[in-house]
Amino acid sequence: MAVVKADAYGHGSTECARKLEAEKVDWLAVATTEEAVELRTAGIEAPILCLGGCLSGQTDAFFEHRITPAVLDIDQATALEREAARRNRQMSIHVKIDTGMGRVGLPFRHVGDWLDQFSGFANLSIEGLMTHFAAADVDDEFTRTQLRRFDDVVEQFRARGHRPTVIDAANSPATVGYPAARGTMVRVGGMLYGLGDDVLPANVERPALKPVMSLKTAVTLLKFVPAGETIGYGRAFRAERESLIATLPIGYHDGLRRGLSNRGRVIVNGRFAPIVGRISMDWTTIDVTDVPNVEKGDDVVIIGSQNDVKVTAADVARHLDTISYEITCGVGRRVPRIYIPQP
Ligand SMILES: *Cc1c(COP(=O)(O)O)cnc(C)c1O
Repeated sequence: MAVVKADAYGHGSTECARKLEAEKVDWLAVATTEEAVELRTAGIEAPILCLGGCLSGQTDAFFEHRITPAVLDIDQATALEREAARRNRQMSIHVKIDTGMGRVGLPFRHVGDWLDQFSGFANLSIEGLMTHFAAADVDDEFTRTQLRRFDDVVEQFRARGHRPTVIDAANSPATVGYPAARGTMVRVGGMLYGLGDDVLPANVERPALKPVMSLKTAVTLLKFVPAGETIGYGRAFRAERESLIATLPIGYHDGLRRGLSNRGRVIVNGRFAPIVGRISMDWTTIDVTDVPNVEKGDDVVIIGSQNDVKVTAADVARHLDTISYEITCGVGRRVPRIYIPQP
């Protein structure tokens, strides 16, 4: 199952879903009903699981667009059962079990009660059982506990006559770190996009991942400023020497986070150049005094590589006390996504 929620972690969900569908992925997963409808409207045919469940008022969309809900509690099951009965239809659902993540799903301790309540539902069939790990990258003992709880729940469902065929627990870190958690399917997001440096367990062999996204801009303006001159909002940077400053048409709206002001670095002509001054909504300034031969129009790499120099989303995230996912998800809507087919 390829997770394409949140606009495929910023990469563009429709394009990614098309590509993944062409690669014969079994399932796609999104977070919200709207995301699922968007994919269907774009012509995506693969089965789609809505991880965010079926919120009240949204039952129709699940039937009309053939979306499979991850059912998060008995109320969602009840609403879907009622709608399925009204339409005289059978609906397949996946049931989310909370084995320790603590956000959503039926608490593993209460599965018996849930099954009692569910037993009267003639129009729903349980195709899938799933759970989600809280710390598969860092907490081995708790991950094993969650997996044990999940295995036990799967047995309880089977003992009550359910025949789920899709058993899935593993996100990216668990897929790599816990073969026993792979079930009949894995739900992989970050790793698909080549993100791994900061989300996979450290003590296992990692697959060779290649980041899918590069974020690039270009030098728009170039000027020398004398020593003592300040640059940008708040005058947060003061040139200590005569400096060559390049201005880039990218700002925090585009996902170049303001927290990188005076901290981050980008690549120009195969060299690192520091971000100087505050990043504003639409503009960013960098110091290219030490980069030879910079000209207007030169490519500037925010995330990606040039020659042997690279900046990963995880590198950017480290400056901001976050993870790579938040960086790629944060690339703004006005940044054009350009898809380059790989041989
Ligand atoms: C986002 C998400 C995933 C994917 O996690 P990755 O770490 O990106 O692989 C899997 N399952 C659920 C329920 C999720 O919300």
